[in-house]
Amino acid sequence: MTISKILIANRGEIALRVLRACKELGIATVAVHSTADADAMHVRLADESVCIGPPPSRDSYLNIHQIVAACEITGADAVHPGYGFLSENAKFADILDAHGITFIGPTAEHIRLMGDKITAKKTAVELGIPVVPGSPGEVLPENALEIARDIGFPVLIKATAGGGGRGMKVAKTEAELEEAVSTARSEALAAFGNDAVYMEKYLGKPRHIEVQVVGDGAGNAIHLGERDCSLQRRHQKVWEEANSPALNVEQRMKIGQICADAMKKMKYRGAGTVEFLYENGEFYFIEMNTRLQVEHPITEAITGIDLVHEQIRVASGAGLSVTQDEITFSGHAIECRINAEDPRTFVPSPGTITHFHAPGGLGVRVDSGAYAGYKIPPYYDSLIGKLIVHGRTRVECMMRLRRVLDEFVVDGIKTTLPLFQDLVANQDIANGDYDIHWLEDYLARTAP
Ligand code: ADP
Repeated sequence: MTISKILIANRGEIALRVLRACKELGIATVAVHSTADADAMHVRLADESVCIGPPPSRDSYLNIHQIVAACEITGADAVHPGYGFLSENAKFADILDAHGITFIGPTAEHIRLMGDKITAKKTAVELGIPVVPGSPGEVLPENALEIARDIGFPVLIKATAGGGGRGMKVAKTEAELEEAVSTARSEALAAFGNDAVYMEKYLGKPRHIEVQVVGDGAGNAIHLGERDCSLQRRHQKVWEEANSPALNVEQRMKIGQICADAMKKMKYRGAGTVEFLYENGEFYFIEMNTRLQVEHPITEAITGIDLVHEQIRVASGAGLSVTQDEITFSGHAIECRINAEDPRTFVPSPGTITHFHAPGGLGVRVDSGAYAGYKIPPYYDSLIGKLIVHGRTRVECMMRLRRVLDEFVVDGIKTTLPLFQDLVANQDIANGDYDIHWLEDYLARTAP
């Protein structure tokens, strides 16, 4: 089946990113937007656009009826969901299927399988992926103590329906357990409408390492190496690197192969990310994301493979463009997430961008829909762009990043750019010596 017109069910930098891939493949594009995004770059650059509702996401970017109607009106034969919004919504995939519209992503069944974290962990075990020691299923107030003693303290209580680091609580000792379970359950209920929680061993100093995979849905799958996303605040990624400074080639190829083999067994279709915590040389699966990730461009930088092209190819049944043997990893890439936020407190800073100058030169990529005069709507995520820098070595990449950060101008609002200027000059970062707690510790240590 060929895909001739893709509706991009997203906004911001990712809508633009998908649009670029479509254009390169000669596929027509439809942008959808809320009334708050009528002036957005992806709307200007798409072949057609449809307004799908008022600013709140639930009335526009999450409104399945409106999006399906926009497909019917424009004759789009496929939908790319980007990340966030409906990208991991199995019902959406089912509804598109029922309307004969191709969902550019995995099957609804695979989205469901990985969407529930307890089921995802069970599946990972069956597929031969190493997991964090934890509860076999849901944890209830009455069985929590027994399970925690079994696992050994400290433990982490996590929401089954979790995402974005919400509904997670650490219990360091038995005394803290009851409270941690009940807060995690009520936070999970508030955030996801589901109070089910499970328990894992709390790892003290892990790195967050994730493996990029792509499958064709017919039993072929490849891995594109790993990304190190350990620099986080409130469990959200801020700076990502490929390759991880902590792995050597053998470790990379071994964990990559485990993930690719698992995808072959599942007959996984599309792009996905298998996320691990990594400590003392061991990998522990935490979850799988069945979509494109924000940080995918660093993988593209070191492999030269366009992941959105691959997603569209496999969705149309054309298969993968490369075999595992043809993939080579070249140099080092770093991504900085540029948020419209205070660089220290991370309080959102919506407003109008008065000046905007993106850096350039060899090895520099800026994915952003921002421009001078652009008014950032207060309704959505504060990510306004991503800076991706590539070099032949990690040292070259860091030197380039330092140069590029000095060139980047975004005036009129606060951004996280100054934080990256601090990080690029830091000795621990230069050494690649950090874990998932490093950034929070650093921010606390250097607070004004
Ligand atoms: P979410 O879907 O909410 O993002 P994840 O399971 O992906 O949840 O975990 C997000 C982050 O939380 C991880 O990157 C890591 O920083 C921390 N985390 C998760 N599980 C553990 C664990 N068992 N021990 C220590 N930290 C953890």
